[in-house]
Amino acid sequence: MSDPSTTSRSRAWVEVSLDGLRENALAVQRAVGPGVRLVPMVKADAYGLGLGAVARALAAMPALEGPWAFGVAAVAEGETLRALGWRGRTLVFAPAPHDEFHRAADAGLTLCFSDEQSVRLWAEVAAATGRDLPFHAEVDTGMGRAGFPWDRAAAWGAHVASLARGRLRWEGVYTHFHSADEPDLAATDRQWERFRSAVAALPADVRTGVVVHSANSAAALRREGLGGDLARPGIFLYGGAAGAQQRPAPVAAVRARVVLVREVPAGWTVGYGATYTARRPERWGTLSIGYGDGIPRALSTGGGEVLVRGRRVPIIGRISMDVTTVDLTDVPEVEVGDVATLVGRDDPEEITVDEAAARCGTISYEILTGLTGRLPRVYLGSEPRGF
Ligand SMILES: *Cc1c(COP(=O)(O)O)cnc(C)c1O
Repeated sequence: MSDPSTTSRSRAWVEVSLDGLRENALAVQRAVGPGVRLVPMVKADAYGLGLGAVARALAAMPALEGPWAFGVAAVAEGETLRALGWRGRTLVFAPAPHDEFHRAADAGLTLCFSDEQSVRLWAEVAAATGRDLPFHAEVDTGMGRAGFPWDRAAAWGAHVASLARGRLRWEGVYTHFHSADEPDLAATDRQWERFRSAVAALPADVRTGVVVHSANSAAALRREGLGGDLARPGIFLYGGAAGAQQRPAPVAAVRARVVLVREVPAGWTVGYGATYTARRPERWGTLSIGYGDGIPRALSTGGGEVLVRGRRVPIIGRISMDVTTVDLTDVPEVEVGDVATLVGRDDPEEITVDEAAARCGTISYEILTGLTGRLPRVYLGSEPRGF
């Protein structure tokens, strides 16, 4: 294990492999082919791994022409990218509250719209500020949470096109797949057909002038030809499997120190509710990490394991806010100060983020974005200083 003396690695931390991140971005680029540009999704602090380091690493990859844009979900996230020095396109994918439109314009962000009223307001902001304001239109092909209806594109397409005059620029049209990570891709193919028919129903000058995009990680990896001019990978970049054959390179590792080791007699209990009782004389280790760091409490009941000295040991009792207890009886060489791995590699073993998620009934996305600010992010691999 790496240097235990640094404070960021003293209690508990998240290691982020920037080389793994870059490898996964290349894998997506290879899958979609050289004609398709990437819009890496860096919302939610780059899925919890740290917006600045992740965006800088992705922007500096010579093998990607450079991201076509970065994708975020909130105006504030776009403003953060600007403050970090990113000058390229920044797309805000989730519908933004109207009272944030002026801020979005000031930050030079591109908004995504699902209704004419928002387009009209964006046109007013363009006129009032004298700025050129681009936007993308989302098409709802089955996701249901946002988007213009796919089957009425001729009508809304004409209205939106009539608003996109002067300083307002209709730059893109996209949809979002709901099941591209499921074994059966029939629903994804159906959504793609709906999307194509919607695009075909747009006014001709719009249709030929906009970029078209649809693919998330799963669709990009599993339906190479499908998707359009751009792909919007998220989870796969960060080491989540995305339902694809292809395994991502590991990116995030969640590690904590063994801070206490104790021999306990049979009958000793551990944790709130005393849900675990020693069946024999056992050796228990206390790890300096808990649900206050984002380790789901459900992991204790779901048969959670951690790695120590390259071996798996079980989590025992309930995870507390600040500490987690494990049974070290079968790995007696573990000592105070050792590093335990809750997600990631400790050769020859590995707990993928997907495995940890499955054990507590959730998805990799929720595990990663749930890691709290108490865990320092430690970056491995060369880290560009700016954009
Ligand atoms: C989050 C998001 C993505 C990325 O999805 P992954 O499954 O993480 O690859 C793509 N497009 C939109 C609109 C999103 O909100």
